[in-house]
Amino acid sequence: MSSTTADATNAVLIRDNLARLRGRIADACARANRAPDSVTLVAVSKTNPVEAVEAALAAGQAVFGENRVQEAAAKFPALRPAYPELRLRLIGALQTNKARDAVRLADAIESLDRPRLAASLADAVRKEGRRPELLVQVNTGDEAQKAGVPRAEAGAFLRLCRDEHGLAVNGLMCIPPAGDDPRPHFGFLAELAVRHALPVLSMGMSGDFEAAIACGATHVRVGTAVFGTRPPPP
Ligand SMILES: *Cc1c(COP(=O)(O)O)cnc(C)c1O
Repeated sequence: MSSTTADATNAVLIRDNLARLRGRIADACARANRAPDSVTLVAVSKTNPVEAVEAALAAGQAVFGENRVQEAAAKFPALRPAYPELRLRLIGALQTNKARDAVRLADAIESLDRPRLAASLADAVRKEGRRPELLVQVNTGDEAQKAGVPRAEAGAFLRLCRDEHGLAVNGLMCIPPAGDDPRPHFGFLAELAVRHALPVLSMGMSGDFEAAIACGATHVRVGTAVFGTRPPPP
């Protein structure tokens, strides 16, 4: 592992960012009359080097989010022996042909959003004997190009996952449309979770995690506010 001055400086920045974020999360929880440990900070490390992940682990951060299976596979398995507390959540669009790798690698998959993927994940769970936590991603803005189940189909899709594929979905995830007030989207997702008795709500990013906590988020996915401006994808 390199130990350049740049890496050391970055490690200090990441540690300070995490400390500041923990404070902001605790404050947001207090304002919402929620216990501070009712919200899990997911440090989104996509496109950041493994040294950045190690700096966060050294600063006590255990839960990470990645978008791409291949990148997660290159960065995380080697860290697990030294950091048994490490938890990896896959939060990006998932191709069916990556379902098996995803099930092998991840502790949670937050982007379940279509019947074919449900079938592939169910098959992968059987073959791997591993059961990552599963969240259904809802396209709360019903945006044409965006991943996620359309709002009106979410209920039927949750039933299909459970009844036809035996998948124990544990929660919901959303990414509100850029530029919208995110709160109605967070509110919609929270209501849907209550209606289906789902305990996990993954919503809120660097720019809006406090609003998400006010609306009931249990997991906030924060990238740039932890690691700084992201390097471009390879
Ligand atoms: C990149 C990403 C994030 C983190 O975004 P920031 O604005 O950097 O905090 C959260 N959720 C998903 C699904 C992402 O792809």
